[in-house]
Amino acid sequence: KETEKEKLGLEQKLRQALKMEAIGRLAGGVAHDFNNMLSVILGNSEIILEELEIKNHITLHINEIQKAAQRSADLTRQLLAFARKQAISPKILSLNKTIEGMLKMLRRLIGEDIELVWKPNNALWHIKIDPSQIDQILVNLCVNARDAIKDTGRVIIETGNVQVDADYCQKLPGFKPGSYTMLAVSDNGCGIAKENLENLFEPFFTTKELGEGTGLGLATIYGIVKQNSGFIDVYSEPGEGTTFKIYFPKLPENSQKEEAIRPKKELPEGKETILLVEDEKALLIVTKLMLERLGYKVLPANTPQEAFKISENGKKEIDLLMTDVVMPEMSGKDLAEEMLKARPAIKILFMSGYDDNLISSNGYIKDEMNFISKPFFMSDLSKKLRKILDK
Ligand code: ADP
Ligand code: MG
Repeated sequence: KETEKEKLGLEQKLRQALKMEAIGRLAGGVAHDFNNMLSVILGNSEIILEELEIKNHITLHINEIQKAAQRSADLTRQLLAFARKQAISPKILSLNKTIEGMLKMLRRLIGEDIELVWKPNNALWHIKIDPSQIDQILVNLCVNARDAIKDTGRVIIETGNVQVDADYCQKLPGFKPGSYTMLAVSDNGCGIAKENLENLFEPFFTTKELGEGTGLGLATIYGIVKQNSGFIDVYSEPGEGTTFKIYFPKLPENSQKEEAIRPKKELPEGKETILLVEDEKALLIVTKLMLERLGYKVLPANTPQEAFKISENGKKEIDLLMTDVVMPEMSGKDLAEEMLKARPAIKILFMSGYDDNLISSNGYIKDEMNFISKPFFMSDLSKKLRKILDK
């Protein structure tokens, strides 16, 4: 009987794991296509806004379109984060500083009736993570805390250095012993019912009314934490409150230095010729427009085959190949390899929402230099291009 029970339990866990995997793949796929469409919307709005007179009342509406598309892009990013297909650029950072930069926004988010208490450990170990992922974790946890507190209450954000030992790991499956930087968010809200604890991190699991919860908040956090080799622990007393603790591995002693964030510059332009390959027609058009506005000559191609024809036909100079990565005929990576054989001096820029060939299993972009993630703004594109072309 005991063995049977154990077997049943294991089967259930396996089914659960398979389900998470399948939902992740589905979400990642949908998000990828969706991201392309958003790039079209954002790109066109940006161009229209530049064309219009500042005082023109139409700009108001375009601004709204842009805002809505940006919000949708954020949602897409959550899905990609859960599927661990999100392109990230981790930096060595002080978790305290990153949190402090968010406090004002978080206070506004949770409202005046809920007190926000900040308890930093001032000798905190640095971690290596994409700062936008910390923002995402904080926002999702604070929104949940706010929802759990019906009227007035308190949210505490705390950081600390933690040694996780073998004993602790025994109680918490999936934990590994070692040194961790911890982020804890506690609330004195309604708490979580025991029977809900095991489904908490599943995407689309929500106890909220239709239209109020998406069930993506904790799933996103789960994806981010896994991507950064961390752990997550939740403790809750129904009626008393909840604490989420997130552990990120401590960096080795010699890399405990913060990376400087570069200041912004004007849009740098160029006169070079760019062979642009993108299978999504609308996206091809808007990207071409962006590039032309930056001064570049653009040779657009809808497929890798077209790109080869352009390259073979003319004796034209082509300085850079800018290509989508996921295309039906041939991947952007293979295209680039072929192109380099014919034109060894050509520079390459990949653009993608995500891609398994460019993004390694833990989400790091293998060659960040040659990659821009969709959707992108003209400002990012312009800088990226100069960096590659001037190298
Ligand atoms: P959503 O907030 O959209 O419902 P989440 O993934 O963020 O989705 O959370 C899933 C569920 O977990 C919530 O619906 C809620 O039942 C529970 N939950 C999460 N955080 C808390 C909290 N701080 N206190 C009580 N319940 C929580
Ligand atoms: Mg939520």
